[in-house]
Formats: sequence, C-alpha cells, structure tokens
Amino acid sequence: MATSKCIDWQFSGNKAAKEAAAASLGTYTSAIYALCDPNGKPILPPRSESPETSHTAEKAVVKAVICGTGNAYAPSIGLPVAKSAVAEYLNLSLPKKLKADDVFMTVGCKQAIELAVDILAKPKANVLLPRPGFPWDVVRSIYKNLEVRNYDFIPQKDFEIDLDSVRALADENTFAIFIINPHNPNGNTYSEAHLKQVAELAKELGIMVVSDEVYRWTVFGNNPFVPMGKFSSIVPVVTLGSISKGWNVPGWRTGWLALHDLNGVFRHTKILQSAREFLEINSKPPTVIQAAIPTILEKTPKEFFKKRGSFLKDRVDFGYSKLKHIPSLTCYMKPEACTFLWTKLDISFFVDIEDDQDFCNKLAKEKNLVVLPGIAFGQKNWLRHSIDMEASILEDAFERLKSFCESHSIEAKA
Ligand SMILES: *Cc1c(COP(=O)(O)O)cnc(C)c1O
Repeated sequence: MATSKCIDWQFSGNKAAKEAAAASLGTYTSAIYALCDPNGKPILPPRSESPETSHTAEKAVVKAVICGTGNAYAPSIGLPVAKSAVAEYLNLSLPKKLKADDVFMTVGCKQAIELAVDILAKPKANVLLPRPGFPWDVVRSIYKNLEVRNYDFIPQKDFEIDLDSVRALADENTFAIFIINPHNPNGNTYSEAHLKQVAELAKELGIMVVSDEVYRWTVFGNNPFVPMGKFSSIVPVVTLGSISKGWNVPGWRTGWLALHDLNGVFRHTKILQSAREFLEINSKPPTVIQAAIPTILEKTPKEFFKKRGSFLKDRVDFGYSKLKHIPSLTCYMKPEACTFLWTKLDISFFVDIEDDQDFCNKLAKEKNLVVLPGIAFGQKNWLRHSIDMEASILEDAFERLKSFCESHSIEAKA
C-alpha cells in the first residue's frame, strides 16, 4: 500500500505571509504562553474566555438577533444604520462633521488598519510607523511590501512623538504617518497642542495622518482624549476605531475607518473610491453586531466606562508602586490610558539574561507569568506588563516578577 510519502503532491503552502506573520503580536504571545507549564502554578495573566461587557451592549445584540435585523447580508461598506451611528458618535467631539458616507465598517480595528494600508500602498511608497507600537500596521506593511520607517518617542517627555525623527524620515515617497492615541504600549494620551503639532508637520510634509483611536474609551489619567479628526481642517485625517477595547468585546470583531476629508481631497485623490473597492473584495463584520452598533454607541451609560477606568487606574497605581522595588525595570510614565505598564529593561542587572525576549521566555518557564518583550512592539529591551486583572492576581504577578528579577540578578549570584 502506498504511503502518503511516496505520492508527489502537486500542492504546497504559500510562503507569502511568513515574514509578516512572524511580526504579529499573536505569534509572540502564543510562543510565550506555550512555554508556561499547564500543570504548574496558575498561568498569569489568566487568558479570560469571557470578559464582561456592558448590559446595554449585550441587550442590543440579543435584540438584533431576536428581531432579525442582522440576519441579512450588509452592504460591503457597512450597514447604513451602523455607519450613521458611528458618524454621529464621532461628530460629538468634532467641529467638522462626518457624513455616514465617510465611515466604513470593518472587521475590528485590525481590518481598519489593513484597509488604511491597502488603499494607500503603492510601489516604492514608504510609511511612518511608531516604534514602539501595536504592530498590526507593520504586519500589513510587510505583507504589502511597503517600506516601513519608524519614528521615535521621547520617554522623558511623557512619550511625546519625537517630531524631529518624523521630519528626518519623510521624503517624497512618504504618504502617511500612523499614530496610536491613546498609545499602546506607551500608555499616554496626546494633548491637543501636541496633536496640532503633528497635524502641522504632516501638512508641511504633504502626508496624511492615520490615527488609531481604539483605546479612546480606556482613559483614566488627567489628560483627556482628543480625537485627531479635530485637525482635519489642517491636514487630511483617517481615524480608526472599534468597540473591542472600550466595551471589552474584541471577539465581536466590529470596527470602522472614518475619512475626515480636507476640502474633498479624499474624493479627488480617489481614496474614497479605493476604500469601497477594497471592502468589496474583503470580508465584513457580522451584520448582527453592526445592527446593534447604534444602541451600543448611543446608550451605553457613562458609568460603565467610569467603572472600568477606575478599575484600571487602581491597577496601574498598584503595579507602578511595585515597580519601584524592581531596580532593573524603569517605568518612565505612569500610564493614563490602556491596560499595560511599559518598562525599560536594564540587562546589566542580570547574570544570565540576554535580552527582553530571553527575559520573557525564562519568566514564562520559571514563573508561569507572561510579559511581552518590547521587540514584539518594535523596541528591544523593553517590556509590556498587563495590569488588567483582579487585585489579588496582580499582586501575585508582581511578586513572581520581583522574585524572578532577584534570582537572576548579579547580586544574587555574587
Ligand atoms: C487591540 C488593538 C487593535 C485591534 O483592535 P480590534 O478591534 O480587536 O481589531 C488595534 N490597534 C491597537 C492600538 C490595539 O491595541
């Protein structure tokens, strides 16, 4: 009997996504979780299978299911009621109003990022991306053969964008600067004045600003969130969002891309048309969630976000205070948004740790604690610590972290 080995199959896997996939956060996260011992201490952070969301959002989806309003196909660019609701919601804080036609519904913020890259990518083009940053834009740019140029931040200035680094990178083939606000992983929100500087610099360089605002509902510091769309009278702006982080429902896979046009420039540069065409050939977010979007955006009580914000602020304060006792880790700024602490790792404290990746691998193996290496966000020898867990669990996580750092430190081995 012939075994499958002897047959000369005429098919094999395509390697086109290999390099891009390697840069994905999911690839890093899975690899580190795989190093933990499932029979050891509880693995932290716990991989929650059912995060809680607002009852308003739950009921809105149930209603859409029962009434059948989300059972049919939606148009490729999105369900009209969802597009209008997103436009109206964003308009609450914008001087120049969006129309429903300026909004496109996407499969989470990730597809919005993908769409922004796809509609703009041209041969020889380059794009300015944050380092560090949530790397989905990097992943998609690699896949599209776009040249990525990374701009920097100034940790000593609350992680403001280093505008000189932006200026130095841009040339005649640059088409956009992508920003993340509030920023994952830096954990800051940009002030109005800083965003205006970004808008003015982009105008000077002749490029657009693409702003990922998926964390706009997870802000708990003193600096309020300011939408980039506010500056669309200076420069063309694309904003990206989703309900994933604000409502704690990343599994619902529903987001959007909004074109904040500057005097019709998106129309005459065919960006609007291109967005329609790309969505025509791509998958769409589930109609049933789109049907629930108007209620989710309009009716979720402010208390829901307040409660979540104070929960996170509490955890951030706790984690930040614990870091003071771990001299190898420096947190430059207490986060004012998102769900992480972002620290600089000083390798010289350790006897047997090579870099951030090695640190995270050994930490997972020895302590069943998952911290992500900075390299996953483009920045070597930094670390991202999740703080989104119950107080007692977070305390356990920081004890494990401290004991790990001590046991590998030069002093311990001396
Ligand atoms: C989580 C995250 C995303 C992805 O959002 P989805 O709606 O789950 O696709 C995009 N950008 C940033 C900055 C994120 O942190």
